[in-house]
Amino acid sequence: MENLHHIVVVGGGAGGLELVTRLGNKLGKKHKARISLVDAGLTHVWKPLLHEVASGSLDASANEINYRAHARKHHYEFQLGRMSGLDRSAKEIVIAAFHDDEGNEVVPERRIPYDTLVIAVGSTANDFGTPGAQEHCLFLDSLRQARRFHNLMLNAFLRKNHEALQGKPHSLNISIIGAGATGVELAAELRLASRELPVYGMNHLKSSDVSISVIEAADRILPALPGRLSAAATRELQRQKVQVLTGQPVSEVRENSLVMKDGTELPSEMTIWAAGIKAPAFLADLDGLEANRGNQLMVEQTLKTTRDNHIFAFGDCAACPQPDSDRPVPPRAQAAHQQADTLFETLCNRLEGKEAVPFVYNDHGSLINFSKYTTVGNLMGNLSGRSMYIEGKVARLFYVSLYRMHQVALHGFVRTGIIWLMDKISRAMHPRLKLH
Ligand SMILES: Cc1cc2nc3c(=O)[nH]c(=O)nc-3n(C[C@H](O)[C@H](O)[C@H](O)COP(=O)(O)OP(=O)(O)OC[C@H]3O[C@@H](n4cnc5c(N)ncnc54)[C@H](O)[C@@H]3O)c2cc1C
Repeated sequence: MENLHHIVVVGGGAGGLELVTRLGNKLGKKHKARISLVDAGLTHVWKPLLHEVASGSLDASANEINYRAHARKHHYEFQLGRMSGLDRSAKEIVIAAFHDDEGNEVVPERRIPYDTLVIAVGSTANDFGTPGAQEHCLFLDSLRQARRFHNLMLNAFLRKNHEALQGKPHSLNISIIGAGATGVELAAELRLASRELPVYGMNHLKSSDVSISVIEAADRILPALPGRLSAAATRELQRQKVQVLTGQPVSEVRENSLVMKDGTELPSEMTIWAAGIKAPAFLADLDGLEANRGNQLMVEQTLKTTRDNHIFAFGDCAACPQPDSDRPVPPRAQAAHQQADTLFETLCNRLEGKEAVPFVYNDHGSLINFSKYTTVGNLMGNLSGRSMYIEGKVARLFYVSLYRMHQVALHGFVRTGIIWLMDKISRAMHPRLKLH
């Protein structure tokens, strides 16, 4: 074990966990290399599910993967810890001291040696330094934040229901800043929650008492997607009585309101920041590795960092160039999934002294899911390069298949089939919304 080439992957998210699973199954199992995963958390939940966890339409525990158990099954080692630094000359990563909930140190700062390092630590929402955002906004970057949002939402509904019972004013204003896919989908999930909760006993509060607004600085929602998709999504949100405000940059977030650039103040008791992304701050100054203004590590098309032949980065935390485009590969789960495949080949080649494989992003299109109501999207034709608009059940099928592909990468076809069946049974047995 001591002499084996040691591949360390930091970040077990949409991309990192798929990569480490394949490396473990291929190289770890046959003792061709030692594979380690380092993650700041003990469990993995696929990030695109977080808005469903937040609204309660998905029970995260049923979709949570315990890294230790998964590592044992797929022949890699798991180390709990948050990477905080790097020593390139010693080829070691630095892991910050680990503290329990009471602030007691459990494990001191430590170092993990590597022969090849892969950084896949994802991204967080970018509040662009907007005053008040950190203090008064909720974020959906982690399972912990999604669960916190869910509890706050349930309490807000309970409080407003009680106020309605007492005949007091009881409207609840929820604002989502950022009308990318996350913000739009979250709005639809929240509208569903506002309609379903009264069914479970909060029957003094009506869905119409809950005002949901999506606020976007650009002149249309889903600004990164084709105009037709944006128009269809706007219509769907309006049908669901979600207020859509475009061309409205937020200049300040206060405890119970938002101040817009033109000075208008909007009431908002719950504000969610879902705009922009940036990579974790520690990447900005990581022992001389090149990073951009959003802290993303600069990589070549092979996903190798520009200044170190032994370090690769991919997923949201990396800026990977695309041929024929001046924009890097977009920060999306489908990109992280494809990059994991390419990097798997490159790392296998590397052990045999062969060339790295260049990554080419294949955009299969975009799908926006409006909770149980509908799904709209565009699929890219591989040969023609033209997109095809789809909606309804067919679109929903494609939307769900992205998560199923992730599950197949982590569990294989048979187990994914069993999980799918269990999901169906669970949905039939439990209330549509998680109520605690
Ligand atoms: C609510 C929401 C909905 C989304 N919906 C979609 C969608 O429908 N389609 C789509 O394509 N994309 C979607 N995205 C984007 C998608 O989730 C990301 O592009 C994708 O998860 C990126 O994968 P990743 O592996 O780079 O990072 P992540 O999946 O974010 O994983 C990063 C991992 O790194 C770990 N980590 C972070 N910092 C450290 C550290 N310092 N040390 C150790 N570990 C660390 C984290 O714990 C995490 O496990 C959505 C995002 C959100 C927030």
